[in-house]
Amino acid sequence: MKPAKFEYYCPATIDEAIALLGRYQGEARVLAGGQSLVPMMNFRLATPTAIVDLNRIPSLDKIEAANGNVSIGAMARQRQLEFTPLIGERLPLLGEALRWVGHLPTRTRGTIGGSIAHADPAAEIPMVLQALAGDVVVRGSQGERRVAAPDLFVAPLTTALGPDEILTEVRFPAMPAGAGHAIEEFARRKGDFAIAAIAVMLVRDGERCTTARLATAGIGPVPVRLRDAEAILEERGLGEVAVAAAAQRAAELVEPMTDHNASADFRRHLTGVLTRRAVLKARDRGDVRTG
Ligand code: FAD
Repeated sequence: MKPAKFEYYCPATIDEAIALLGRYQGEARVLAGGQSLVPMMNFRLATPTAIVDLNRIPSLDKIEAANGNVSIGAMARQRQLEFTPLIGERLPLLGEALRWVGHLPTRTRGTIGGSIAHADPAAEIPMVLQALAGDVVVRGSQGERRVAAPDLFVAPLTTALGPDEILTEVRFPAMPAGAGHAIEEFARRKGDFAIAAIAVMLVRDGERCTTARLATAGIGPVPVRLRDAEAILEERGLGEVAVAAAAQRAAELVEPMTDHNASADFRRHLTGVLTRRAVLKARDRGDVRTG
């Protein structure tokens, strides 16, 4: 298939891009890596009147650490992040997630901002943004604002971005040194979208768990934090009984989808299994005295 007719623009600045989006009043789409938008256009699942290409706008791919946060420009390529030492050191959970995203060719073009803005329910990067309590900077005709992960993902393929807003930066709190992390995913093949996935970050103090973060992908319509399951680990520690209780609670908390890949019941079952595996893996990877 080929895309429906569209106008193409390649602005040199964000302000130009915002003005173009404003002119098309929601009928234009931003182009980043094209790894989701172009296939959707080819299948006529997206028929924008105009494409506003971000690839020639400079300085949208910076990666910086400051004040305990790591800021990543929206156009940073997924592959670039895989090989950035700062990501491995300060955001190892994101580094682990990137290896689950698609395939090497798609990661070479795909961007972090595109993955988050596309908001596929099964995408791993939005799951990590939830798990690490990250947020994004968006700019539009009304100026610049920050949107926290829980407020960003509204529905499948739908975010809180306005029709003339561009996601310019993704910000994560740096993970505590020595924190344990793990991602457990169930997919048909490596590189396929998740049918169910759980991301975990833990900060340990002996058998105690001082910080637990659990988030989902592929299970419900948007990635979510599993706060009640986190509380069980922070109150009862990381022994087998507490971990099993947290996994059980996680399975109760989710609102799983049914689709051609899996039933809601199967996704609920997977939630419990993957949560237990990911928590035990993160527990064993984390430094014992990091709290
Ligand atoms: P684009 O495709 O260019 O854009 C995607 C959407 O986001 C469009 O609606 C666009 O308008 C909007 N957008 C992009 N950037 C911005 C911005 N800065 N501000 C506002 N809106 C913006 N992803 C996974 O998470 N896991 C997988 O396992 C996975 N497997 C894949 C397998 C294949 C074969 C392919 C082709 C893709 C796969 N993907 C997977 C998707 C891939 O990660 C895409 O790169 C990502 O979803 C979109 O990033 P992009 O930069 O290509 O965005």
